[in-house]
Amino acid sequence: MPGAYDQSQEDLAGLLGDAPSFRTRQVWDGLYRRVLRPSEMTDLPLALRDLLDAALPPALEPVAERSSDDDQTTKWSFRLHDGAVVETVLMHYPDRSTVCVSSQAGCAMACSFCATGQSGFRRHLTSGEILEQVAVAVRAARPRRLSNIVFMGMGEPLANFDNLWPAIERIHDDFGLGARSMTVSTVGIIPGIRRLTAAPLPVGLAVSLHAATEELRNELVPINKRYPIPALMEACVDYRAETGRRVSFEWAMIDGINDDDRQAEELARLATGVRAHVNLIPLNPTPGYPVRGTPRARIEEFRSILEQRGTTVTIRSTRGSDIDAACGQLAATATATATATATPVVLREP
Ligand code: SAH
Repeated sequence: MPGAYDQSQEDLAGLLGDAPSFRTRQVWDGLYRRVLRPSEMTDLPLALRDLLDAALPPALEPVAERSSDDDQTTKWSFRLHDGAVVETVLMHYPDRSTVCVSSQAGCAMACSFCATGQSGFRRHLTSGEILEQVAVAVRAARPRRLSNIVFMGMGEPLANFDNLWPAIERIHDDFGLGARSMTVSTVGIIPGIRRLTAAPLPVGLAVSLHAATEELRNELVPINKRYPIPALMEACVDYRAETGRRVSFEWAMIDGINDDDRQAEELARLATGVRAHVNLIPLNPTPGYPVRGTPRARIEEFRSILEQRGTTVTIRSTRGSDIDAACGQLAATATATATATATPVVLREP
């Protein structure tokens, strides 16, 4: 069953039948400008509200909601109409509020250290299922304004380009966020990067690199065998040239695996070639990968090696790791299927 955010304006007009045509505009504004549920659109006659409510039930049924970091981080698990489960994370910072949205239920990329990758692929999300995650975040963020969207939740967004792109357009045109406020993160699907390069909105591009040599990257990020590093770097150079947007490289710091001097030097070389920014992510623990994260002191050394070679580096804060909401920890299939009940369970951290 399609959700409200899978409807085009024409679909809505069809649903509203004989109602005057300005009602379609009203419902659209209700969904995107005011971000209301149909039952809350009190400027509509009750009969229309009831009709919409029945025809367009939420596509996302909350299964669990958990908060941490002094309520500055919230993670939701949502069950979809077919029982698939996805997770969404909202993070407040002093200067911005960012939602991390899922683009697929599960993921087919099978990166060894990523919990989503360990759980396998279930299906692509529809544009509406992506958009409804944004709507939930807009509502939950109030009175603050949701300012940023990162496609860094479950799934590989560029493997679902056909549903991702319409969602990005709607976030831009209808929710009213700028292209600069959105970042698509990819494991390095080159045809997807090419399509993004040709697309009209210059969103940010983050590439999950994690290894700077073919041998190691083949191991950590298996899709590297299909899209090897030199071709990936070429796609990044072109992305920057065409869109004017700086590319960033994501690098989960894994103790004794990708944190040696050689990797740092090779990474600096790649980053220089693309003029990319490097984002170091302390490894978050996942059940299927019994390897430790790099100790903090070594992360700092790794950072210095990059900086000495002229690369700009940030170290990502690990939000929500205590509620399995941090990078690479989203793995709703296992946990939420077990907790799924007829009534939504709302968990709150003390
Ligand atoms: N498939 C896309 C979107 C997922 S984004 C991509 O790979 O970019 C999630 C980010 O968290 C990616 O950079 C991913 O590589 C990283 N990540 C995955 N597992 C992690 C872990 N256990 N610790 C830290 N970062 C992890």
